[in-house]
Order: sequence, then C-alpha cells, then structure tokens
Amino acid sequence: MSDDQIKLYDIQKNELPPDRRYRFRTLQVFKCRVCGALTNEVRRGGRFGASLVCECPNSSEPWHYDLAAKVEWLGKPHPKSYKAELRSEIDEERAANALKIKNNVVGPADVSQTLDFHWIAIKLFGD
Ligand SMILES: [Zn+2]
Repeated sequence: MSDDQIKLYDIQKNELPPDRRYRFRTLQVFKCRVCGALTNEVRRGGRFGASLVCECPNSSEPWHYDLAAKVEWLGKPHPKSYKAELRSEIDEERAANALKIKNNVVGPADVSQTLDFHWIAIKLFGD
C-alpha cells in the first residue's frame, strides 16, 4: 500500500478501525514533549482496549530516557534559577540529539492537528 492510500483514522471524531486492529495510523499527529518527534502511530491500550496509547518512536533510545527524566524533573517545583539552568540543559541536549530524532508519520496526516504528548498519550473514548 502506498503512503497516500493508507487509511488514517480521525480520533477527534472517535473514528476507529472496525476490525479491532491493535496498531493503526491517525489523521492527527502527535508531538513528543521530550524530543519533539512526530508520529501518527497509535495502539490500543488500557482495559478492553478502550484507550489509545501513543509512544515516541525514539522512546527506547538511551538519550531519550535521560532527556525524559530531565523533562519530568523540570515539571516539579524548583527554585527559579535551578529551573532556568535545567531548561537550558534540556535545550542543549535536544540540540545535541537533533540529528538522531526519528519521526514516524505515514500517510497524508494533518500536521495542523498536532497534539502534544509526554511519554504516552491516552485518549479515552466515550468521555
Ligand atoms: Zn520523544
């Protein structure tokens, strides 16, 4: 199947593959809050597969673990000066790893509908 023939599911409209497929592609694009990578691949997760899980295509890389830990640590309360220092460390690390960041977007996804996610984005249906 060529790239533009692939079926993309619009999760804003709660569209899902009718065949209970485990992994599929979405019209929406997810942007990793750790490294900035883009992906439109999601899988079913949670109880009864009722939620969607999105993982960064780089999440198994050692540099991504380190960066994720810092991004998470930045979200905790810290003195202002420490936060600023940590933030610039994160920026430097992102820049140093910029060439290693792989995106995973397939098909004519709609980049104007880019959603942020951190580690894993879970969308519950029926909410
Ligand atoms: Zn990432």
